Amino acid sequence: MTTFESLGLAQPLLAALEDEGYLNPTPIQLQAIPPALEGHDLLGIAQTGTGKTAAFALPILHYLIGNPAQRRKMAPRVLVLAPTRELATQIADSFRAYARFIKLNVMTVFGGVPIPRQEKQLATGVDVLVATPGRLLDLVDRRSLLLDQVEVLVLDEADQMLDLGFIHSLKRIAQILPRQRQSLFFSATMPTAIAELAGRYLTDPVKVAVTPVATTAERVAQHVTFVNQAEKQALLTMTLRQPEFAKCLVFTRTKHGADRVVRHLIGAGVRSAAIHGNKSQPQRERALEQFKKGEIGVLVATDIAARGIDIDAVSHVINFELPNVPEQYVHRIGRTARAGLDGVALSFCAPDEKPFLKDIEKLTRMKIDPLSLPENFLKEAARLPKPLPVTDERDRSDHARRGEVGTHKHAPRRFGDRDGNRQPGAREEGRHQGRRPDGRAQEARSDGEAAHAHPHAGRPRSDRPHGDRPHGDRPHGDRPRGHRGGRGRGGGGRVGGGRGPRANAQG
Ligand code: AMP
Repeated sequence: MTTFESLGLAQPLLAALEDEGYLNPTPIQLQAIPPALEGHDLLGIAQTGTGKTAAFALPILHYLIGNPAQRRKMAPRVLVLAPTRELATQIADSFRAYARFIKLNVMTVFGGVPIPRQEKQLATGVDVLVATPGRLLDLVDRRSLLLDQVEVLVLDEADQMLDLGFIHSLKRIAQILPRQRQSLFFSATMPTAIAELAGRYLTDPVKVAVTPVATTAERVAQHVTFVNQAEKQALLTMTLRQPEFAKCLVFTRTKHGADRVVRHLIGAGVRSAAIHGNKSQPQRERALEQFKKGEIGVLVATDIAARGIDIDAVSHVINFELPNVPEQYVHRIGRTARAGLDGVALSFCAPDEKPFLKDIEKLTRMKIDPLSLPENFLKEAARLPKPLPVTDERDRSDHARRGEVGTHKHAPRRFGDRDGNRQPGAREEGRHQGRRPDGRAQEARSDGEAAHAHPHAGRPRSDRPHGDRPHGDRPHGDRPRGHRGGRGRGGGGRVGGGRGPRANAQG
């Protein structure tokens, strides 16, 4: 069996891996580390949970150990691009863990936090910088960060970058970076747009791939319950009151949906917290910490917030709403089958979500096992306690803003930063139009609290479950397939040609 030692990694790294308790390389590490050590560019198709962070971090650290250089102000030698602050933080933590026996400065920069502090830190010198694209460009434009010394570049979760509208930022970053560098590019899927982006970043890459998206699903016991949208909350509360749901991740489609679910759960005595893009960084970190420590048993998340977060041993994943992109389903349920553990995933499917279920079953090539509603469901549901009232200040301000749609066309707009983080009190970029800065639809923003007793009656249009809305009013991904513009499933599109021969930084 191949060991980390036989891969030829430097001693301080082997010692750190031993401390981490890693016995053997994972498949992606086995495939990626040798060519990366040789200085090749890499195109990796791998999801979170496969060990891909170590697959790029270890060869990079090995290179830095073998090629020491004076730490430079504002000019990192290694740049890692990640789509979200959570993932950036996690990657930086992994670098620090593997570099614990090396003198190295690893720093993160992402939006949503004051820029001067990051500028000050950069000015003291940095070896490895982990950044989200928007904040990175802000810092470059302010001349607080130089990219001309970057020797190794990692672009992680490229498909997520694209989903978040970072494509233009990434194209610009590709132009700023020195041409002579090593680039390691990772994505869970490889639709044409990603292949095209990879072509811009990579020269003659070695391709490595593990666990095609469909096979992850095979390790998870999956069930679906057919239930009306209005009855999902009762079903969730009843489900989560069972003791075996000890560490459960619940996915909702919208941020407000996540908050609403948590209010109901807390009202019913289920310890839970929401994690999504409207929560402040400390709020997110606190919720994650509480969940990791077992102080709360349920974390309610949107896809974007949950993506890339490393939480071990999640016992159950519940899809409160089915995702309209089938790959997202596989990402979600993959959270419960990590490091060889088996997991359980439950999906609540409303009548209008059946087409999504069909797409998912097609992708995973599996029929999801139907699970009937509990006995006496309606009777039990009627006895459940009321949700907590809306107390969160952010929720209140959102309620207040709801009346503004289309009425303050010329009101001054205070945007968040380029990474899509809102400044305190700022409206989300493009909120008035219900569109995101990248031109795609904003997630539904209304809370729809009043509509709870009577499903959808009196709900603002944007909060109705998908099937209720005319197409023009739906977020893009909600539309029937023929109406969707962008991402196909794409498997293994040809990667665009490189830019001709070029010396590798390590070569
Ligand atoms: P990643 O895909 O990078 O998010 O890694 C998923 C999880 O696997 C993280 O908790 C890592 O600490 C862990 N991990 C990575 N490589 C190994 C390994 N070789 N052996 C055991 N665990 C690992």
